[in-house]
Amino acid sequence: MTNMNEQLVSIRGLKKYFQVGPNTTLKAVDDITFDIYNGETFGLVGESGSGKSTLGRTVIRYYDPTAGTIDFKGQAVHALKGRALKTFRREAQMIFQDPYASLNPRMTVADIIAEGLDIHGLTRSSKERMERVYALLETVGLNREHANRFPHEFSGGQRQRIGVARALALEPNFIIADEPISALDVSIQAQVINLLKALQEERGLTYLFIAHDLSMVRYISDRVGVMYLGRLAELADSDTLYENPLHPYTQALLSAVPIPDPVVEKKRERIVLKGDIPSPIDPPSGCRFRTRCPHAMSICAEQVPEWQEVEPGHFVACHLYQQ
Ligand code: SF4
Repeated sequence: MTNMNEQLVSIRGLKKYFQVGPNTTLKAVDDITFDIYNGETFGLVGESGSGKSTLGRTVIRYYDPTAGTIDFKGQAVHALKGRALKTFRREAQMIFQDPYASLNPRMTVADIIAEGLDIHGLTRSSKERMERVYALLETVGLNREHANRFPHEFSGGQRQRIGVARALALEPNFIIADEPISALDVSIQAQVINLLKALQEERGLTYLFIAHDLSMVRYISDRVGVMYLGRLAELADSDTLYENPLHPYTQALLSAVPIPDPVVEKKRERIVLKGDIPSPIDPPSGCRFRTRCPHAMSICAEQVPEWQEVEPGHFVACHLYQQ
């Protein structure tokens, strides 16, 4: 489905800082550049505190950027006004991590799913509204009898399906899925992934799929970006990233992912990173990964490694590969 020639979203030099004290700035996203192509799934991976959710929320205009730009279909997202802004709000939707917290417990499933339709005045009668709700429920593998129930009557997996139906109601072409499966049992995770994949094929959707580890991301992503402390460490198409990871951080993350082949799995060497992810309020100088990197050199403390394309489509920020 990927049309690698057409960018849907272009992110350039994006920074999002938060003032958390009189002289304290949290640099949640710090100079990030990449594109998301029409029809692809871009997986964005990083530990908590890496800035990946802040990035997603800035793309969808939940936050204003501190610096840099985000274009959607060639238009600057944060400059949109009037009708163009309304269109963006329909075309770009979000699915959240915790389907329970993100669904209002006092609203019926029908009202949750139809909320966007109501706000945008997209149905002419209550009959048409309910027909849309029923169709959306069936699209996500639920049924019309579920429409008048409340979120607490559903399992975690079903609740995430309701979240997906809500996101689809306005017929978007771009969905940011912020850790949509992290709160679900492993057995349910694959079902939600399969649903998202099927919807993408049917509707030509583009996804920004945010996750905290690399295990499930491979099965859904065309390309993957790895974030560490507000910066991108590496970006490549999925097969390249999993088979030939260059950045020491990507290598460590991948070493923690079990391999389905028992022979290969037996030989898997786990790279255990020392320490925790440092605070984004006072990140290490130079390469932000240097305090945990097994290959750190003196230059790593002095210079920020450049974001370089080391082979077509494969980007990495690490002094081991600087040309
Ligand atoms: Fe490690 Fe240095 Fe590369 Fe950073 S730049 S990942 S510290 S080798």
